[in-house]
Amino acid sequence: MLFNEPHPLEVKVLTRRFEYPNAEPIGIDRFLATRGYEGFRKALGMTPEQIIDEVKKSNLRGRGGAGFPTGMKWSFVPRQSPKPKYIVVNADESEPGTCKDRIILENDPHRLIEGVLIAARAINASRGWIYIRGEYRYLIAVVDKAIEEAYQHGFLGENIQGSGWTFHLSTHSGAGAYECGEESALLNSLEGLRGNPRLKPPFPATSGAFQCPTVLNNVETYSAVPDIILNGGEWYSNLGTPKNGGTRLFCLSGHVNRPGVYELPMGFNLLRLINEVGGGVRGGRKLKAVIPGGSSCPVLKAEECDLPMDHESLAKIGSMLGSGGVVVMDETTDMVKAMFRIMKFYAHESCGWCIPCREGTAWLKKLLGRLDEGLGVSTDIDLANELARNMLGKTFCALGDAAAMPTISFVEKFRGEFEAKLKSAQAQAPVPGAQPLAVL
Ligand code: SF4
Repeated sequence: MLFNEPHPLEVKVLTRRFEYPNAEPIGIDRFLATRGYEGFRKALGMTPEQIIDEVKKSNLRGRGGAGFPTGMKWSFVPRQSPKPKYIVVNADESEPGTCKDRIILENDPHRLIEGVLIAARAINASRGWIYIRGEYRYLIAVVDKAIEEAYQHGFLGENIQGSGWTFHLSTHSGAGAYECGEESALLNSLEGLRGNPRLKPPFPATSGAFQCPTVLNNVETYSAVPDIILNGGEWYSNLGTPKNGGTRLFCLSGHVNRPGVYELPMGFNLLRLINEVGGGVRGGRKLKAVIPGGSSCPVLKAEECDLPMDHESLAKIGSMLGSGGVVVMDETTDMVKAMFRIMKFYAHESCGWCIPCREGTAWLKKLLGRLDEGLGVSTDIDLANELARNMLGKTFCALGDAAAMPTISFVEKFRGEFEAKLKSAQAQAPVPGAQPLAVL
């Protein structure tokens, strides 16, 4: 189980136990020898309020994409509810360009278990599940082994470390649906239902798994918590920027010399990430564009990339930090083809529950495919843009927006390339039967 060679600019918190090149996941002996479960032991001596306050102080924000403050999310769980309380781990990492949760599961699964335990203690949960995406099924054995070790050492089960508190944890396999990364669809899937999203509110904090109060975060988010408790929220917060505490795993892929997953402080400059950490654009070519946080984020042109990687800076420029999946595209990239490829993914993954997404992604796939193949007609570019704009904010879950936002940004920022394809198509013999697509 290898990951990329570390870089000296990295600030290692989540990855501090990783070795390069490593062969085995970190077992409990090495974990314990490197301050493993010390954060949890400390949390056992704290009140739930103290734990949540420390996480609030850390300015840890959800690493799944939305960036919601973690401590605040935990504080929404009603303390007096007579129902059992649950913890769910979203390990359904499926956003194209993102592969950071995988390296935690592969290399340091006890870190995740420790983070889960602290969250469970903070809300007094009795049961937890780690929902692992179908494509990561090979990792279930790794995580199951770590869970078994935690049981054997008294970190899971009854009367944990003599505290009188009981908490059980197990893995649950997804079946390979992107949609099940959406928290309420994940909960349906966990309960054995079809993985469609639920109407919100209520939110999981009050009615989550089996209609009980539930904390649901992703792997990276839970995994940051042990060091927050161990070293203090303020320490963690100071690693990042004032509103974006700590470090983040950035998944650098595409046309760079050193692709990989790098742990860097929140707010690290995107151009430095590409040029210094990633070794620059491959073959000495020019940078053309970057998707900053997974394929659902609006694309940035090269001249927009000199900015800090934090939620506010990306939002200011009309994009998002998302899941930390940074996809680099050099000057040779065919932007029409790239957008078509992205749309094929969303059209395939749309769960079909609501019309704007089900129909919109299918029609966008047709339009973009036709443009890419040089079969487009002059109205297709505006039609694609209009169609995407009509999807925005009108779908049941965020997948509709995830498909619409990149489309709008690709068309707006690289319109010249779409038009060039149209012109080259027009220069060829007219395509028999090519008519404007009648959409909806
Ligand atoms: Fe399903 Fe798409 Fe509607 Fe989400 S937006 S509920 S994925 S059809």
